[in-house]
Amino acid sequence: MTTAPAARTVGFQEGERNIFFHILTACNLACRHCYINPAQHGTATLGFDTVRQWLKLFARPERQTNLILLGGEPTLHPELAAIIRAAKSMRYAVTVDTNGYLFHDLLDRIGPQELDYLSFSLDGPEAAVNDPIRGEGVFAVCTDNIRRAVAAGFNTSLIYTVSNLNIGHLHRMPALLADLGIRRFFIQVIGLRGNPVVKKPVGQDNWQVAPEEWLAVVPEVALAAARLGIHAIYPKVYLDAEEAFQCAGIVADNFFVFPNGRVYRCPLCEDHPIHSYLIEDNRLVYRDGLTEDRFFPLNIPEGCVMNKLLQPDNIRYRADGTPMHRISCCLLKQEVAPLS
Ligand code: SF4
Ligand code: SF4
Repeated sequence: MTTAPAARTVGFQEGERNIFFHILTACNLACRHCYINPAQHGTATLGFDTVRQWLKLFARPERQTNLILLGGEPTLHPELAAIIRAAKSMRYAVTVDTNGYLFHDLLDRIGPQELDYLSFSLDGPEAAVNDPIRGEGVFAVCTDNIRRAVAAGFNTSLIYTVSNLNIGHLHRMPALLADLGIRRFFIQVIGLRGNPVVKKPVGQDNWQVAPEEWLAVVPEVALAAARLGIHAIYPKVYLDAEEAFQCAGIVADNFFVFPNGRVYRCPLCEDHPIHSYLIEDNRLVYRDGLTEDRFFPLNIPEGCVMNKLLQPDNIRYRADGTPMHRISCCLLKQEVAPLS
């Protein structure tokens, strides 16, 4: 196992807030690992006025507040450009996460100075790897639109969701990103939410990557990206022995907002009706009872309590029953700054 020497853990920043706002759940694609769960997240597309009211609930102009607009596919929303402008007027730093289809001529309807980041999702360095996961023809559309966005002056980033289906191809991504002109590279780990729970690939009983493979591959690829001038970010996943465990539900301000009004503090909880808040009549209401909040303070040797409850298979134990790794909060990141 080798660890990239330039990687550093990005601790939870005091005062920083992140709002992950799913403005709809509809999507033109049907990715095999899609985590959207309409039974839990709803099927509504929020109207512009509702989005604006909900943005006001979380706006704190005096604090760094990052807004990530998500779906489904957010560019399917016909008023996305107006939503971005409304958010900027409330002093959010705005990122749009897209599957690359850029519906409703988004690049023609906003300027690059109006959006902080346009983030594309791609799960392979070529169509032969990406398209079996994300859909026929997706690689070509997504990479064409990345080139258009870069040429138009947008800050672009790319998310690669690592699973057993594509970890063997991750090392080829930095060269592609450099060629496309991508500035930031997010390597994400597949979660046991949505499709991965129910639609496992034929011949495999688990889409998740073994700890040894993750640790052997991901830091090296992040370093290779940094050497090409790309800022690489990936989840910590396994805590070193001397590192303290922290739960973002306690020490950070993250809100995951869905169109049915559910608001979670922890993304691992999104398949379950244990959300901390509910938006009712455009008001943010804290929920009593057995919600995710009750789990966050539980202190266990395995680290993240929701991981232990929902994804126990990714914890290995020694003969004496102690865990071989503590699992970090899924929101804790490692980063490698550009080296050139
Ligand atoms: S693009 Fe996103 S929302 Fe759409 S199917 Fe793929 S993972 Fe799901
Ligand atoms: S992933 Fe685990 S540690 Fe992070 S917020 Fe959720 S429960 Fe807390």
